[in-house]
Amino acid sequence: MRLETLSIHAGNIITDTNRPAVQPITTATTFEHGNGAHMYTRASNPNRTALETLLAKLEHAEDAAAFSSGNAAALAVFQALEPGSHIIAPDDMYHGIRKQLEEMLRGILEVDFVDMSDLQAVGDAFKSNTRLVWVETPSNPLLKISDIRAVAKLAKEKGAWLACDNTFASPVFQNPILLGADIVMHSSTKYLGGHSDILGGALMTRSKNAFWERIRFVQHVGGAVPSPFDTYLLVRSIKTLAYRMKGHAENAGIISEFLSQHASVERVFYPGLKSHPNHAIAASQMSGFGGMLSFLVKGDAADADAVISKLHYFTNATSLGGVESLVERRAAVEGPNTKTPQNLIRVSVGLEHLDDLLEDLAEALQK
Ligand SMILES: *Cc1c(COP(=O)(O)O)cnc(C)c1O
Repeated sequence: MRLETLSIHAGNIITDTNRPAVQPITTATTFEHGNGAHMYTRASNPNRTALETLLAKLEHAEDAAAFSSGNAAALAVFQALEPGSHIIAPDDMYHGIRKQLEEMLRGILEVDFVDMSDLQAVGDAFKSNTRLVWVETPSNPLLKISDIRAVAKLAKEKGAWLACDNTFASPVFQNPILLGADIVMHSSTKYLGGHSDILGGALMTRSKNAFWERIRFVQHVGGAVPSPFDTYLLVRSIKTLAYRMKGHAENAGIISEFLSQHASVERVFYPGLKSHPNHAIAASQMSGFGGMLSFLVKGDAADADAVISKLHYFTNATSLGGVESLVERRAAVEGPNTKTPQNLIRVSVGLEHLDDLLEDLAEALQK
C-alpha cells in the first residue's frame, strides 16, 4: 500500500459482527480475562492498537507506541536509558524537551547541546557513556537541518541510538528510519492530529530490541497513554494527512518566497529556499519541505509584535500543524534565557487559500 492508501485503511481493526466501515471507540478500561488481546486499557486498548499499527506503517517501523503528549513520548525515551547515560542533543530544539533534559533529568542523565548541522561538532561530542543522539530536523524554531544519514552513521559507530523528532517534517515528507535512525518521535498534537484539537505523542522503532522493550515498559508502567477517544480521533485525522501536508507545503513554499523578497523582512528560514544553508541536505532526505517557516522582521521585538497584531488570518497562538494558520514570536514564549532572536516570527502555514494569506501578510508588513 502506498502512503495515501494505508493512511485510510491501516488504522481499522474491525471485530464487530455488524462490520462497520469505521472502527468503533472501545471505552472499556477492562476486558474479560482470556480474550487473548487486551486486559487493561493502560496496557493496551483496541483503538490504541489500531493507531499504533498505523503509525508504525507510516514510518516504516517495526512497532509504534502512542503517548498522551509529544513530551511524554520524548520523556519515555530518556527514562528508558540507564542512569548516568550521556545524551547529545541539538542546540536548537523544542524547548519543552530541552527543559526535560536540563531540569527534570538533571543528576540522572548527562547532556550536551551541540549544533547538529555541524558534523565535526557532533563527532567531537561523543563520550564513553554516550547512549543516545537526539536530532530534530527541521528544528524548532530556526528550521535547521541535520543530515540524518551522516549522524546515524556516527551514532552507530559509537554504539549509541539515534532518535529523531520528526514532528515538523511529518511521515509524509521524511522517514528517519529509512535514513538510519533507530527511533522516531512525533508530537501528534501537530500535523498528525492536524486540527488543533488532540494532544498526543508517538514513538516508532526500527526494531523491537531491548531498548524498545524498556520504552514499552515506561509507556505501560509510567502510564502517560492517550484515551480511546483521542486515539480514535487521531486515526480519523491521519486519513487526510497526505493531502493536508501537500497543501501546507505548497502554501509555505510560496509564502517563503514572498517573504524573502519583502523589504520589511531581514531573513527567512525555510528548508525549501535555495538560500537555506542546508537546502541540499533537506532535498536529499525530504520529499517536501513542510508547512513551517520562520522569519526575522527588520527591527526589534516591538516591530515583530506590530506585524503580528495586524494579521487577520494568522492567529497569534502557540502550537502548529493545524489547518488554521498560526504565528508566534517564539522568544516571548521561550523566556528570558532563549537564544531565539527577539524579532523572529514562527509561522505555521495553514490550509486557507494562498491568496488570502499573501494579502494578509502584505498588509501587515506594510510600513
Ligand atoms: C509540540 C512539539 C513537541 C511537544 O509535543 P506536545 O504534544 O506539545 O507535548 C515536541 N517536539 C516538537 C518539534 C514540537 O513541535
